[in-house]
Amino acid sequence: MIIVLKPHTSDQAVAEVAQHVTDLGYTPRIIQGVEHTVIAAVGDELSHRSLETLQGLDAVANVVPIQKRYKVASREYHPADSCMMIGPYPIGAGHFQVMAGPCAIENHKQFMTAVKHLTACGIRVIRGGAYKPRTSPYDFQGLGEEGLELLAEAKAEYGVAVVTEIVGVTHVEKVSAVADLLQIGARNCQNYHLLECVAQVGKPVMLKRGMATTIEEWISAGEYLLVNGCPNVILCERGIRTFETATRGTLDVGAIAVAKQETHLPVVVDPSHAAGKRSLVLPLALAGVAAGADGIIVEAHPDPVNALSDAAQQWPSDQFSVFMEAVRPLVALLGKSVG
Ligand code: PEP
Ligand code: MN
Repeated sequence: MIIVLKPHTSDQAVAEVAQHVTDLGYTPRIIQGVEHTVIAAVGDELSHRSLETLQGLDAVANVVPIQKRYKVASREYHPADSCMMIGPYPIGAGHFQVMAGPCAIENHKQFMTAVKHLTACGIRVIRGGAYKPRTSPYDFQGLGEEGLELLAEAKAEYGVAVVTEIVGVTHVEKVSAVADLLQIGARNCQNYHLLECVAQVGKPVMLKRGMATTIEEWISAGEYLLVNGCPNVILCERGIRTFETATRGTLDVGAIAVAKQETHLPVVVDPSHAAGKRSLVLPLALAGVAAGADGIIVEAHPDPVNALSDAAQQWPSDQFSVFMEAVRPLVALLGKSVG
């Protein structure tokens, strides 16, 4: 941490701030400038008490952190790309996965038809929401346990791995009994108690970026999972909230590139929730891949027009080969292999 003092701070006030730094367990190094005096606080910011409290002292102009708020997620900690398994299927370090399926599991026919179409296109990881976080309480909330049973049936029948969302701590046990990859949705990105509970299960977790979380907050949320017992964390960029209304969210492709540079974790792109409409899903997926994503999670439904949630953005599952034919060459060009 660097503590910048206000101009013309008296020697006595500098000494008082330095004493506070010592009291918090750091070694203060005073650097006298022409205008400003700064104090470098030497010590591990991750294991010491926060120096940000010094911001409240009259003599202090600014407190500037030098270390990042995350460690285990960082490339400094683990320089190589991490590869992890979703059931029997790898993602990261050159392995690319397209995860696809309906937004919500609605009934047996709808879900199994989607799985049949998608597996025919080579999809090995199927998505499907059993518990849905909906903006309105009057909207379809998901089939719940019946949806989990359908996920289990798809696994048994097609040998796929499945990813589904955990919306609350009371669901952790039953969802993790079926899911190969546990999804934390955008609305829960910073629900730290849920993150801790989900991490303790030990299964891989896909952490979606919150609609209004900075990249640092998103990666720090991933750090919660890592330090609480989940070694396999996948980050997912799904669009953030901006002033723009032409798309549902603004896909932050820069965040994909930053997350790839800053962390060793696989990063996936969710073009569906960023796009909000079908015609934009493929271009956004390709943009995410070009920015360095290790996978895509995309919504596909056998009858999108009549979908009970996110109807406008779901790809028709019987035409999923069109999506795959566009994605495969770009993934190959970037030196990764699909599946
Ligand atoms: C979803 O994947 O269906 C979903 C609700 O996504 P998000 O949390 O990104 O809104
Ligand atoms: Mn959805």
